[in-house]
Amino acid sequence: MENAFIGDYLGTIEEFAPGEGTYVEEGKIYSATIGKVMSNSELHSVSVTGKIVPELEVGKVVYGDVMSMGKTGVTVIVKRISGFKNEIDQRTMIHVSNISDSYVDKPESLFAIGDIVKARVVKIFNGLFDISTRGEFGVVKAFCRKCRGPMVVSEKFEGKLECTLCKCSDDRKIAQDYGKVSEL
Ligand SMILES: [Zn+2]
Repeated sequence: MENAFIGDYLGTIEEFAPGEGTYVEEGKIYSATIGKVMSNSELHSVSVTGKIVPELEVGKVVYGDVMSMGKTGVTVIVKRISGFKNEIDQRTMIHVSNISDSYVDKPESLFAIGDIVKARVVKIFNGLFDISTRGEFGVVKAFCRKCRGPMVVSEKFEGKLECTLCKCSDDRKIAQDYGKVSEL
């Protein structure tokens, strides 16, 4: 039994059935959590028994960085739990149905890599957890897709953000308190 960190390569889907605490990208299995790797050679399965910091509970407000966006949702590395001083590093997902109260077709149109999101923990299960940006939650700090400049709420276009450098405007799932990242 060995220890795994988030993103550690565990094997391919030809070798193993991906179990709890893992995720698959392009046929490769990676650890989704920090924990012990459990591989079962008879069942050809691999899983990671993870540890979630006990402060992470359903209903808690968290902050994290957007790592990638896909059809099924947005991958976020959670760095902070509101009211808890220690920095954490836990990978999670905003499932497409948890992004907004209205229907979302393309998660990539409402988030960009490197954005900081404020979200709520909605589910904890088997060393993994889910967060949601429905309602007042969403992006609290966004960076321009073109030039990486910091973005501010647009005065010209309602509900949009505007880049402070190149002045282009863009959509995000904006948090009600966009720009307030003093807790970070
Ligand atoms: Zn820009």
